[in-house]
Amino acid sequence: MIKQRTIKKAIKARGIGIHGGKIVNMSLIPADIDHGVVFRRLDAGGKLVRAHNAFVNEVVLSTSLENKGVKVSTVEHLMSAFSALGIDNILVELDSFEVPIMDGSSAPFVFLVQSAGIEEQNAHKKFFVIKDTIAIKNGESWAKVSPHKGFKVTLEIDFKHKKVKESGQKLSIDFAKQSYLKDICRARTFGHMKDMEKMQRKNLALGASMNNAIALSDDDVLNEDGMRYHNEFVKHKILDIVGDLYLLGSNLIGHYRGYKTGHWLNNQLISTILDSPKSWEIKTFESKNCPIKFYSEDWQNHL
Ligand SMILES: [Zn+2]
Repeated sequence: MIKQRTIKKAIKARGIGIHGGKIVNMSLIPADIDHGVVFRRLDAGGKLVRAHNAFVNEVVLSTSLENKGVKVSTVEHLMSAFSALGIDNILVELDSFEVPIMDGSSAPFVFLVQSAGIEEQNAHKKFFVIKDTIAIKNGESWAKVSPHKGFKVTLEIDFKHKKVKESGQKLSIDFAKQSYLKDICRARTFGHMKDMEKMQRKNLALGASMNNAIALSDDDVLNEDGMRYHNEFVKHKILDIVGDLYLLGSNLIGHYRGYKTGHWLNNQLISTILDSPKSWEIKTFESKNCPIKFYSEDWQNHL
């Protein structure tokens, strides 16, 4: 059978929080079968917040969760790494309201999980299988999911910036053929330097810097080392989508397509999916009849 997964041992990391600008300590801790991904705020009496769409609270610049007044911000890059590595059960302890931004990609989280080691558990892994197409629109942006034997993301963005245009704004990644670890996880978030300075004057994005984002001037990339992939912008947006979709509560089997989507639209899509129970089902698979070869090299070794 395809089994649920956690990590072999606890592991810690620390890094700056993008909103608060303060150092955040984070521990990833193994968890039991059917536990799910759960955050624990050590600085708020150990209160728990489940990583699920039902607890999404804010989706403006990043995806935040909230349970009874206790918030956890900027979960999407960590969720993206958990999704790609198939981690079903894990406890994430934080001593602040946000997940550290690390280098603005999910590569440091992938590294952490791989360093802790992945432990398969003696229970069927649950997959979220799309049976019918579900689509939503907001102005000119749209997003939809449709049935697909595997996991695939097709995205078109439309930024006016010269460097973003040159880098390619459309990409389709079929995770049966392309590697999240090689092709996606190193893509960093990005923003215009002017917007960052504006936000910081309002006491927002205090931790943002060229250490954790691609900074854009009017017509160039300001980071001395340049870009990690020639199409890093659209790749980062795909990284975000993988993370946002994991708030369905299980790994998705389906094809996501989107045009100019962001955290808000992804969240609307997920709510619409969850409100259409006839369009999906939760399924488990035996290794030999699993229709899927996907997400990362690590998965393929277990299929
Ligand atoms: Zn992001």
